[in-house]
Amino acid sequence: MSATTPPAGSSIFSRIIRGEVPSHRVYEDDRVVAFLDVGPLSRGHMLVVPREEQARLEDLSEESAAALGRVLPRLARALMKATGCTAYNILINNGKDAGQVVLHVHAHIIPKSSDGRGLTKEWRSSKLDPAEGAALANELRGALAGSAAPSTSA
Ligand code: AMP
Repeated sequence: MSATTPPAGSSIFSRIIRGEVPSHRVYEDDRVVAFLDVGPLSRGHMLVVPREEQARLEDLSEESAAALGRVLPRLARALMKATGCTAYNILINNGKDAGQVVLHVHAHIIPKSSDGRGLTKEWRSSKLDPAEGAALANELRGALAGSAAPSTSA
C-alpha cells in the first residue's frame, strides 16, 4: 500500500455497506448493495455498489462484476415501476478524468424524467476509419488474449 492509498474498507460506500453511515438502502445480497444517491440527478437516482472495495472496474473480481450486472435489470424494473420513468441511463465512472469522485466501484442508475432531469451528456462522435478500426480491433483482441481476470475476492 502506498502512502496515498486509503486503507481497505475505508471508502464512504464501504462505511454505508457496513451501516456506519446512513443511507436509503434499496437492495442487498451477499455481493452487492444498492442505495439512493444523496445528490440525485433525478428522482430515483441510485447507486449499485459491490461489497468488494475496488476503486476501478478493471480491478473488480469477475464474481462481483457478475453480481453487479445480474441485479441491474431487476433494479431498473423496480425503478421504472416506482418512479414511472420510461428511460434511464446506467453509468460507471472510472478515474478522476472520467468524473469519478468516490473511489469505490459503483454503477449509477439514473432515471430520465419527463421534465428532462437526469443524465445530460455531450456525445461528440467521430467516424471510424475502416482500416484504423481493423487495426484497433486486432490490437484489442491481442490485449484480451494476454489478460487474466482479477482473482476472486468477496
Ligand atoms: P462518482 O462521480 O461516479 O464517483 O459519483 C459519486 C456519487 O456518490 C455522487 O453522485 C454522490 O452524490 C454520491 N454520494 C456521495 N456520498 C454519498 C452518500 N453518503 N450517500 C449516497 N450517495 C453518495
